[in-house]
Amino acid sequence: MNDLSRSEPRGLLFIVSAPSGAGKTSLVKALVERDPGLALSVSCTTRLAREGEQDGVHYHFLDRERFECEIGEGAFLEHAEVFGNLYGTRAADVRRCLDAGQDVLLEIDWQGARQVREHFPEAIGLFVLPPSIEELERRLRGRGTDSDDVIARRMAQARDELAHFAEYGYLVVNDRFETALAALAAIVTAERQRLAYQRPRLAALLDPIESTI
Ligand code: 5GP
Repeated sequence: MNDLSRSEPRGLLFIVSAPSGAGKTSLVKALVERDPGLALSVSCTTRLAREGEQDGVHYHFLDRERFECEIGEGAFLEHAEVFGNLYGTRAADVRRCLDAGQDVLLEIDWQGARQVREHFPEAIGLFVLPPSIEELERRLRGRGTDSDDVIARRMAQARDELAHFAEYGYLVVNDRFETALAALAAIVTAERQRLAYQRPRLAALLDPIESTI
């Protein structure tokens, strides 16, 4: 028996990033809905709740003072300012899930992803891309109610996020939703077949095999 078989099963940590307009949120929602083994981490944010968003479900909505207090206490695994608001992932929530053998998915920006990799170099990075820059702009224009200034700012922010694609191990193009979703699910499935993940989970099968070798 070696160290791997003796260790407790630990969960995998997935990070999903994308520029806004790539369709990341809908993909992630569909992915975690069909995979009960994947827990979507609920981030904290200082931005106001949008219509339909519930505190504790979509985000933990905190005021800036409370958020900064938690930064001071070292509560966050990562935090970043995005579009003028603070966003962060509470470390305790993530560690509790991973230690219990549960896989965790973080839907965060590139700044947060960098910080997470410092603590969890083994985290698996997935970056969702639009099929083209033109298509991204078309999606960001949405129903055409926003001014050109607003669109230009969103495009600049999207390009800023896009520029970090090479920091992720997997790239998934969201051209057709179902195809992109299948690709994300396939990555999660493949990562779960790795030796280090399977060994402690298959101890009942593998230990007797090893003891006879
Ligand atoms: P939104 O306000 O539209 O929900 O999210 C805006 C951006 O903030 C998205 O790029 C999203 O991935 C990012 N974001 C959401 N939660 C977190 C978080 O906990 N940490 C970081 N670094 N970014 C986050």
